[in-house]
Amino acid sequence: MKVSEILAQSTKAFPSLEIVPPQRGLTKDELLESIAPFMEFSPKYINVTSHRDEYEYREEADGSFTRHLVRNRISETTVCAAIMSRYDVEAIPHIICAGITKDEIESKLDNLAFLGINNIVALRGDSMAGEKRFTPTPGGYRYASELVEGIRSYQGSSLYRRSRGLDTDDRFFCIGVGGYPEKHFEAANIETDIANLKKKVDAGADYIITQMFFDNKVYYDFVDKCRAAGIEVPIIPGLKPLSTARQICVLPESFSLDIPVELTDAISKASKDKDEVYRIGTEWCTSQCKDLLRHGVPAIHFYTMGRTDNITRILKECF
Ligand code: FAD
Repeated sequence: MKVSEILAQSTKAFPSLEIVPPQRGLTKDELLESIAPFMEFSPKYINVTSHRDEYEYREEADGSFTRHLVRNRISETTVCAAIMSRYDVEAIPHIICAGITKDEIESKLDNLAFLGINNIVALRGDSMAGEKRFTPTPGGYRYASELVEGIRSYQGSSLYRRSRGLDTDDRFFCIGVGGYPEKHFEAANIETDIANLKKKVDAGADYIITQMFFDNKVYYDFVDKCRAAGIEVPIIPGLKPLSTARQICVLPESFSLDIPVELTDAISKASKDKDEVYRIGTEWCTSQCKDLLRHGVPAIHFYTMGRTDNITRILKECF
């Protein structure tokens, strides 16, 4: 079922989960076992992130250098197919513009249509390691809004639908996009960033998932600004429980976000006691979650980042 239909039919807020594809070498069964604890909570869907291919240059015997693809993770489409083969849950691949051409994206869409996957989260992706600004791949998309347009104009889906006697339409895929309550780090200001977010919605995005945040006021203000700018689609808050003391440095740096001083103080004081840090991070996220539910959010998206125990504790308390 499409996320747009799930959202329209839900009478109660529900959790969704985001996982990172495993490193090469892990088996399908190991992956499926690692997410089994989530299944007790009947998540409506599980998102699978996408990672750009990286290349390395290797010196040959003659002193020349050759370019080699380094693909460390199993592809998001393969992981989605594995999840749906075992569990009764929608699996949603992320598709990024970074490092991939429009034709290659078209081919990914063919694969998804083949598997019957009609949900996608469309993102730009980040620059390559060592690159200062994002550089579009020749023959690729510059912005997520262009990718959304590309997915909407995908012809393979109508061929697929026609071949099965289904109505043709350009909304075969339900599309989610990313939103940034604390502004995307490249945007000059939040207003410009929200104007760019609206371009994604105008291009055909059905809903927004936010970047993680640690102060709910940031999310409520963001939703108000989006609504004032004419964005009407559901805006699903994204949460991540802090689990290590190091994350109070790493997350602001990686995701350009603020962590409230009350939380950083508590984590810093407990920094020598790993269990206490874990408990503080889990409790903070639990209270964020409860407050969001009181405010009537449609769903809450959890960035699991390889953790299950803290997320399942939060799900037990809140859903
Ligand atoms: P865009 O919407 O294209 O925006 C990028 C920047 O360009 C913004 O500053 C925006 O304001 C600006 N902009 C947009 N359109 C225009 C325009 N027309 N003219 C001028 N400026 C414009 N990354 C991954 O690599 N893999 C993942 O699986 C992944 N999953 C994510 C899931 C979520 C929910 C979120 C919020 C982020 C995720 N990311 C992922 C990170 C994301 O790829 C980065 O944050 C990236 O830097 C921006 O992606 P975007 O889709 O928001 O880009």
